[in-house]
Amino acid sequence: MALQRSTQPYDRAFNFSAGPCTLPVEVLEEARDSLMNYNGSGASVMELSHRGKDYDALHMQAFADLRELMGIPEDYKIAFLQGGASLQFTMLAMNFLPVGTAADYIVTGAWGKKAVEAAKIHGGVPQVIYDAKASNYDHAPKLSDIKQSANSAFIHMSHNETIQGVDFMEEPSGEGIWINDMSSNILSRPCNVSRYAMIYAGAQKNMGPAGLTVAIVRQDMIDKIPDGLPPMLDYRTYFENDSMYNTPPCWSIYVAGLVYKWVKKLGGLEAMDKINSEKAKTIYDVIDGSGFYKGHAQLANRSKMNITFTLPDEDMTAAFLKEAKENRLLELKGHRSVGGCRASIYNAFPLEGCQVLASFMKDFEQRNG
Ligand code: PMP
Repeated sequence: MALQRSTQPYDRAFNFSAGPCTLPVEVLEEARDSLMNYNGSGASVMELSHRGKDYDALHMQAFADLRELMGIPEDYKIAFLQGGASLQFTMLAMNFLPVGTAADYIVTGAWGKKAVEAAKIHGGVPQVIYDAKASNYDHAPKLSDIKQSANSAFIHMSHNETIQGVDFMEEPSGEGIWINDMSSNILSRPCNVSRYAMIYAGAQKNMGPAGLTVAIVRQDMIDKIPDGLPPMLDYRTYFENDSMYNTPPCWSIYVAGLVYKWVKKLGGLEAMDKINSEKAKTIYDVIDGSGFYKGHAQLANRSKMNITFTLPDEDMTAAFLKEAKENRLLELKGHRSVGGCRASIYNAFPLEGCQVLASFMKDFEQRNG
């Protein structure tokens, strides 16, 4: 069977990278057009002072569009930070887990585990109340089975574990103080922000280029922040200065703002959910209909962002990856802790790419299965 080839603009390949990753072509085009002269200002969007009115307008619009898209209530503040979600692991502990106090952590994969280690470094006591290690992180617990411990300041979860391809697929009921790392599923489907005390995410999957991290924090949490933290590690510094206490990552915020507009134009988070569901189903259908490919995550927790699957052995996996690359299906190698393959198909990844991968997988199985 002749394999389908990319029909993407600019001869772009299908890039399944887990992040940084595929961005919307429309957004890249608009960013390109703003590189030399932004909005008639006479300067590149990268050259604008963050104290000027052109930059200020796009910065504040990005906050407003994110608030609208996610339906973020008024008693939550939004910060644009640097340092990645990895810095948030420590920073949230410095702000909400004073030295010697305890918090609950649910570990459903590699990032949840890192969050625990980073909270320990600061001197807080992260207590792991659920760890899916015994089944090599192939599932998440039912949230109705999780209760916040009496001594705990909050419960931390990683909504979508990027490496394992495991997503809770549900939200907490409202009881308990939940902090949620949504780095790899933010904006991919509707989210009931009011169920959480804090949500945070690195931008480089569903929101734009690397260099920007978003934190959304409820006012009652902000009121608990202890004095004496270094200013750049105290959330209040960001909230009190519209995230412009120092120079923000202007370019990343600009592109994220374009992504927010793009998601709004597509119909918002409900529309994204529909598109993402169809994309994921295209690939999961092949896995489910096959004795050759095996999905890593249990059915109830299968991520629609990161699809993890294995082939019968390592040689077959290497041959699959080599052929995939020759067919311009890039970055499909899975993380070594799971093995096999991972197809990351965030918001901007096109449906056509999922269809091409699905037909490639079927064809490869027919020839090698
Ligand atoms: N949490 C999750 C769920 C992630 O996927 C990642 C990065 N892949 C991180 C945290 C760490 O993010 P960063 O690289 O932005 O520090």
